[in-house]
Amino acid sequence: MKRKNFMKQKEISLTTPHSLLPTNHSLLPTPYSLLPTPHSPFFISLFSFLIFLFSPSLLSAQTAVPAVYNLTDTINYLGSPELRWDPFFDSGVLNLNGHNASFYSGEEGETGPVLFDNREILDLPLPYNSGGELFFPASFVTGVNDTFKRFAADDLARFRIAAIVIDPGHGGKDTGAIGNHIIKGVPFQSVEKDIVLKVSKLLYSRLAAAFPDKRILMTRDSDTFPSLEDRVILANGIPVQDNEAIIYISVHANASLTNPAARGYEIWYLPPDYQRDILDKSKYSGSPEIMPILNDMIQEEYNTESVLLSQGILRQFNSILGNVMPSRGLKEEAWFVVRNAHMPSVLVELGFVTNETDALLMNDDNYLVKFSDALYNGITEFVDLFERSGGFTAQY
Ligand SMILES: [Zn+2]
Repeated sequence: MKRKNFMKQKEISLTTPHSLLPTNHSLLPTPYSLLPTPHSPFFISLFSFLIFLFSPSLLSAQTAVPAVYNLTDTINYLGSPELRWDPFFDSGVLNLNGHNASFYSGEEGETGPVLFDNREILDLPLPYNSGGELFFPASFVTGVNDTFKRFAADDLARFRIAAIVIDPGHGGKDTGAIGNHIIKGVPFQSVEKDIVLKVSKLLYSRLAAAFPDKRILMTRDSDTFPSLEDRVILANGIPVQDNEAIIYISVHANASLTNPAARGYEIWYLPPDYQRDILDKSKYSGSPEIMPILNDMIQEEYNTESVLLSQGILRQFNSILGNVMPSRGLKEEAWFVVRNAHMPSVLVELGFVTNETDALLMNDDNYLVKFSDALYNGITEFVDLFERSGGFTAQY
């Protein structure tokens, strides 16, 4: 687009009346010096007028794009970027949606480098100061605009997490595990479905606030029992683009019917109980041999992501809850089952309802917040890593 603008400029200067004058033009350093020559100003005007009249494309180009924009028009044209101007160095930075164009002001007609995001340089006619006001040549404005637009399109195509599904285990008629205790003579019951719902709702609020651009979903948000099928329909119903991924967090509490001393949190790589076609087969119908290869690559990637997500969550549990609860670690056995997982997915066992200490911690609102913080930190760390690395696809 930049080249096109330069071409347009060149066209205009080639067809200006000055350069069409039959005599002496090669001796004249600039078009301005033509004016005081013996050639009749009337002749020039007439010529201009004719060129103007018979050049509809030139006409439209000139009316659609002024040669120079003032500051207000420039800001409007570019979609209201922030402008930081340093009068000491006569330099400025335009910032739009996280992208920067750095430039300095020159003399009128001077061309110079404009630096975009510290990674791309375009040579553009520079803004110049006239009468204490900044003016922006049209090619500068359109060059910046085209580049910002291209960067914004790249942003859209980047790999991202589109949705996070929080699955509080059990619910309704399915209580999950129950621990019965007597604390200081008072019977006390620790119920998995209630604990995991509270933690999941806390997690939901934090994720929804942090990621307004992502869909944060819960498989249940009250004491109901969505069947496995319902949970499947919910997860499968999330529309995702090719560059988007979903992560799935199932929250549970543990139990041991034989060992009341068993306690601690553990993180599993979860194979979702549903299958999703990883690749849209119709897109590769012309080359069926590539399907299994791509599928393997993507499955391998989901495995890697599930492990990274689990490790991140475990690290956060260790740092936030490690002083009050033992870690039972990541479940290595899941390496085998995770081969069927079609999205990064994790199952977290918060603690044991059958252990008195764990049960009391999971009955304490302050600790429920800590559980949700650990999940939240682990998930956001993973989302940052995933989105910054382009979905880890660079390794392929
Ligand atoms: Zn459970």
